[in-house]
Amino acid sequence: MNFICSKCGKLTPTHTPQASCSCGGLFSLPNEFPKFEEKLIDKNEWSLFRYRAFMNIEGESWRDVTMGEGRTPIISFGKDVMVKMDYMMPTLSFKDRGAAALVAHMKEIGVKKCVQDSSGNAGVAVAAYCARVGIECEIYVPEGTSPKKISMIEAFGAKAVVVPGTRDHCADVCREKVVTEGAYYANHVFNPFFYEGTKTYIYETYEQLKRVPENIFIELGNGTLFIGAVLALEHLLASGVISHFPQVIAIQASGCAPFFETVEKQLDHLAEITPVPTLAEGIAIGKPARA
Ligand SMILES: [Zn+2]
Repeated sequence: MNFICSKCGKLTPTHTPQASCSCGGLFSLPNEFPKFEEKLIDKNEWSLFRYRAFMNIEGESWRDVTMGEGRTPIISFGKDVMVKMDYMMPTLSFKDRGAAALVAHMKEIGVKKCVQDSSGNAGVAVAAYCARVGIECEIYVPEGTSPKKISMIEAFGAKAVVVPGTRDHCADVCREKVVTEGAYYANHVFNPFFYEGTKTYIYETYEQLKRVPENIFIELGNGTLFIGAVLALEHLLASGVISHFPQVIAIQASGCAPFFETVEKQLDHLAEITPVPTLAEGIAIGKPARA
């Protein structure tokens, strides 16, 4: 299997240790799957890997990696609102979806050590899945990350490195380490295998409800869930499972809302903003790499 550069189109084998294309463009993965059909769901597999017919998954390493993530309940809140309880996960966030798929890939290609930068939840998830299969792991977190997230990262045996300054600066410091030391970048924004996992958020919703809701509200920071959801919805539409695309409504924190600003000001590029501290620290991303 090959990564496809989203900038120049060059193909790079997916077993590369490179974090991005030599031109600097971010990698994406091929989007060639059979039509979505219920009979292709592996109903004997009680994790999100039951949808692996529709995921770019190489080999069988996922069997050692999975911790039963996914299959979270959908609960009614009043007459018209349903909430998918994606905190019911091995490390308590939806990031386990992406981490399971990404670490399955890393295990498959023989990665022994990795680094990642995260505002918390993705770091916790990657640390846990790496621990599951014995991959050494270093997580860079910005100052201000909640102490509970840091102690969770450390509880999984990973090293947490607290970087002073903003979340965006923290990412820069970690990427520098990738370039200078050649560490594998187990990052939820750069590595598209993460989206193979977050796609299952939609496949699962469809299997549970036998339909897709008209309006889907998704928090948007770097877009790890948003991008996966859109990829899966495009697949359901192309498969003829849904007749039209639902409204996907992106939610940003008022203290850090570059996409909202872009739309408000009708810009043709991502708005430059100065993030201010917000309770929604997990989506406080001022400069999303896949904007
Ligand atoms: Zn390129």
